[in-house]
Amino acid sequence: MPIDPKQPYDENNIFAKILRGELPCSKVYEDEHALAFNDIRPQAPVHVLVIPKGAYVSWDDFTAKAEDSEIAGFMRAVGNVTRQLELDGPGYRLMVNMGTNGHQEVPHLHVHIFGGRQFFQMIGE
Ligand code: 5GP
Repeated sequence: MPIDPKQPYDENNIFAKILRGELPCSKVYEDEHALAFNDIRPQAPVHVLVIPKGAYVSWDDFTAKAEDSEIAGFMRAVGNVTRQLELDGPGYRLMVNMGTNGHQEVPHLHVHIFGGRQFFQMIGE
């Protein structure tokens, strides 16, 4: 079920638990601003999620409330992950689902990185 993006931050969401080390993840990258791990149900040969370390429900919440340094650090981290995975040569797709219409399911901002094949369709159902 998609989330209500205007809800307050839920400290018990799955990604908050992963950040606190209470749930395991297949870690790909970590720095002071971000954690990246493999998606549990991959939709592509490479499917990695990058999450900020701060408590932000959504892209909307993050871009409205995060400090400039957090936003810059997070953006840089996404780029670092794609280069670490050597996706910068062949290319990749980034996606952020936001709220009900975006069908966001986990209420902690996450950027999807898809790679390992070419993507043709712009928007799926
Ligand atoms: P959304 O629809 O919110 O943009 O995407 C949520 C993503 O989180 C989905 O691709 C889903 O497979 C992934 N996911 C949900 N629960 C877990 C989990 O416990 N661990 C990992 N690694 N990924 C998860």
